[in-house]
Amino acid sequence: MSPASVVHVALLPSAGMGHLTPFLRLAALLVRHHCHVTLITPQPTVSKAEQHLLTRFQSSFPDVNQVQFHVVPPDEDVPSAADPFFLQFAAIRRSSHLLSPILASLSPPLSAFVYDMTLISPVLPIANTLGVPYYILFTSSATMFSFYSYFPSLPAPQSFPDVVEIPGVLAIPKSSIPPPLMIPNSIFGNLFKEDSPKLTKLHGVFINTFEGLEAVSLEALNCGKVVKELPPVYPVGPFVPCEFEKVDQKGAPLTWLDDQPDGSVVYVCFGSRTALGRDQIRELGDGLVRSGCRFLWVVKDKKVDKEDEEGLDGLLGEELVERIKEKGLVVKEWVDQSEILGHKAVRGFVSHCGWNSVIEAAWCGVPILGWPQIGDQKINAEVVSKSGWGVWKKDWGWEGERVVKGEEIGEAVKEMMNNESLKIRAVQVKEDARKAISVGGGCEIALQNLREEWKKIVKNI
Ligand code: UDP
Repeated sequence: MSPASVVHVALLPSAGMGHLTPFLRLAALLVRHHCHVTLITPQPTVSKAEQHLLTRFQSSFPDVNQVQFHVVPPDEDVPSAADPFFLQFAAIRRSSHLLSPILASLSPPLSAFVYDMTLISPVLPIANTLGVPYYILFTSSATMFSFYSYFPSLPAPQSFPDVVEIPGVLAIPKSSIPPPLMIPNSIFGNLFKEDSPKLTKLHGVFINTFEGLEAVSLEALNCGKVVKELPPVYPVGPFVPCEFEKVDQKGAPLTWLDDQPDGSVVYVCFGSRTALGRDQIRELGDGLVRSGCRFLWVVKDKKVDKEDEEGLDGLLGEELVERIKEKGLVVKEWVDQSEILGHKAVRGFVSHCGWNSVIEAAWCGVPILGWPQIGDQKINAEVVSKSGWGVWKKDWGWEGERVVKGEEIGEAVKEMMNNESLKIRAVQVKEDARKAISVGGGCEIALQNLREEWKKIVKNI
């Protein structure tokens, strides 16, 4: 192929594994669809996990052009308690003018540009000068996207009604709305306010979802029921976990799983950036022991993996560590979640319902006990429970609202692990997920159509 006939797509993720991972999986998908890909990576990353993943990606995909985008450091005077990932969103936004020369220098000429949902407004004028279609990758559910796109039609968050109706999609109780939206002048709230009215200026929105999981939301979004002028929403999921994500886990926890009976283990993990308080961690450990189930538990007590973490004995206490030994394995290191969810010993997943975790569980047909902690997670948990392959405990509240007791946790885990109908439905969702990426499936059709459009642009240049 001559350079002039190459379909070339630039990707720009934002901060955190929850944003980087889906972008890298999208990059792999585009490569499979014969696109040349440039990955623009904001530097420095917030976590070590992001840097490690980028390195592994580069070794697996040497033909993907990685370009570093050096971000102007966050303001010195920001409160130290502010979320480091949100601060980095803000820093990348403030640095967006530095993208123009990067994008202009790319060769062969670009055919399309896909950037992160947290960067919409500041990157829009730059994307607009490229003369090619530009899209965002929305890294949450289509249902969350319907709330996001409908946001400008709602009253100010402080005056939200008790239930917010998203036309054609669902009714969201006020208690499920991301709490930072209720805080005047929060980074997250300002980002919502500034960016959601601009969605109509994009050429499209990519979402890591599929018809079998979110048909109602996708239909409402694409038929103009939510917002009339919305651009097309492409369900390009489920993004399939890739080889480059595999980490050397020095045997555990996969060898431990190999020794457990099929369908006997509950896997517990709250994603890449949710740290529970020490009291809650201990109650969770107590609950897992009480459930009587075998369990694999990834404990996280710091938001960012660059901070010092306490050893397990200190964090859990010696007594709990002893009680856990009989049926559980607890780890503090980064694990290969996709491989764990795909292991035959795993029967259930206690999850915060970060969207990547939800899709990975769907891909593997593993039922979820949702315990949403922040942001979009209650809305995602609702998607899972509506679809019938998971449950979530509405009275457990947001992160830090109350300490949920071990007794309640133990009961909920036991119920989820013994619920046959959840398992049956999870297997159906897994089949739907696999169909979406096979010939004639939603993801494949979306990608083929987009590539055809991008090819026409190449010809016209
Ligand atoms: N993850 C992982 N190992 C860990 C913790 C997290 O592989 O020890 C991955 C998980 O598989 C998912 C991502 O990190 O792909 C977390 O994204 P998600 O949207 O679920 O939650 P977030 O971390 O953004 O809250």
